[in-house]
Amino acid sequence: MDTRPDSQQQHRWAAIHNVLSRPGPFTDPDWEPGAMPIKELEEKILVIGAGGLGCEILKNLALSGFKNIHVIDMDTIDISNLNRQFLFRQSDIGKPKAEVAAAFVEKRVKGVKITPYVGKIQDKDEDYYMQFKIVVCGLDSIEARRWINSTLIAMVDMEDPESLKPLVDGGTEGFKGQARVILPTLTSCIECQLDMHAPRPAVPLCTIATIPRQPQHCIEWAHQIAWQEKRKDDTFDSDDMEHISWVYNAAVERAQQFHIHGVTFQMTQGVVKNIIPAIASTNAVIAAATTSEVLKIVTGCNPYLENYMMYAGEEGVYTYTFEAEKKPDCPVCGNLARKMDVDPNITLGEFIESLGEKAEAQLKKPSMRTEEKTLYQRFPPQLEEHTRPNLQLKLHELLEDGQEIAVTDPAYTIDFRYRLNFK
Ligand SMILES: [Zn+2]
Repeated sequence: MDTRPDSQQQHRWAAIHNVLSRPGPFTDPDWEPGAMPIKELEEKILVIGAGGLGCEILKNLALSGFKNIHVIDMDTIDISNLNRQFLFRQSDIGKPKAEVAAAFVEKRVKGVKITPYVGKIQDKDEDYYMQFKIVVCGLDSIEARRWINSTLIAMVDMEDPESLKPLVDGGTEGFKGQARVILPTLTSCIECQLDMHAPRPAVPLCTIATIPRQPQHCIEWAHQIAWQEKRKDDTFDSDDMEHISWVYNAAVERAQQFHIHGVTFQMTQGVVKNIIPAIASTNAVIAAATTSEVLKIVTGCNPYLENYMMYAGEEGVYTYTFEAEKKPDCPVCGNLARKMDVDPNITLGEFIESLGEKAEAQLKKPSMRTEEKTLYQRFPPQLEEHTRPNLQLKLHELLEDGQEIAVTDPAYTIDFRYRLNFK
C-alpha cells in the first residue's frame, strides 16, 4: 500500500497523465480532460506469458500506469532465462515465473496490483476471460495463441459489446518479431493468419542421410542416425553434456567428410534441443509495441495499429505495417470451410500425418469425419480400433472430390472445416 500523499502519486504519473489529458479520436463524449485518477487505467488487463516478452510487457504496463494486471504462466524459472528475463534472479531458479514476476513488479512500481496464476490458459473458462478489458499475449507457442484466439472469438455475443475482448499479440524469433491487434469476429484473427507463421520445414531424412549441405544437417545426422546405430541402448538426453559432446564430435567428423564448415558445440545444443534463439532487444521492441497498443485501445487516446506490424532486425532495421485480411474460409472466425488441395492417391494415414506440417492446418493429433461417416477417431479406444483400417485406404476411396470434412484436435475446443480438392 502506497502511503505517500496524493500529490506525490500524481507527480509520479504526470507524464502519462499529460498524454491522457487531451481528448483522443475515440474519447467518450462524457470524458473530462485532466480527471484523476484516470479510470481506464483501473481496467483489468490479462497478460499471457511471463517469459522474455511477458516480463517486458508486465513492466511496461505497470510503468504506463495500469493498476490491475493478471498474469498466467505455467513455467518455472530456468538458469538459461536469466540473460533476458530481467525480473528473475539466480535465487528464483525453480520458482514459478508468474509469481516471481508479479511480486517483483509490485515491489518496484507502487500502486499496481498483479495477480499471478501458475498454470495453463486451458485451465480457465469463459467466465474467467470475461472479467478482462483486454488480453495481451507474449507467448512462444502457436498452439496457445490459437487456443486463446478461438476462445475469445467464441465468447463474442453480438448483443453485448463488453463480450468483445481485444487481443494484442506479440511474438519474436531471433531478430524478427511481430505485433498484431485482433478484434475478435471483426478483424483478421490468428487462425486467418496461420499460414504466415508456417512451421519450419523439416529437413528430409534422405538429405540428412545422404547429401548434407549445411552444418545443421551433420548435427541432425549425428543426433538421429549415428546415435541410433552406435548407442541405441542409451536414451538420448539433451541435458546430458556427455551425450551432446558425443553428437558434436560425430557431427564434426561427418562435416569434415563432406567439406562443410561451421559445426559448433553451441549450434549442436541449439539443433538437438530445437532452440529458437531469443534476443533481449527484440523482445523489448515487440513488448513496447504491444504495450503501446494496449494503452491506446484501453484509453482511446490515439488510433491503434490496424492490424499487423512486422519487425525485421536481422539485416538492418525494417518495419512494415499492413492490414491482414479477415478470411471468409477461416475455420475459427469465418463461416466457410477452408479449401485444401490434396493428392487423392495418398492414404488417410499420410493425409493425417501431413496436417501437422501444412501451414494452413498445423494440427498434430487430428480426428476427422464427414457429415455421413467417421473417417478416423483417436478416442475412445473402441472407435479408434474401428476406424483404424481407414488409415490404409486412399483418399479417393473414402471421399468425393470437393467433399467437406470436420477435423478436431485435442489441443483446441473447436471443429476445423476443410474442403478437400483433389489435384
Ligand atoms: Zn479468422
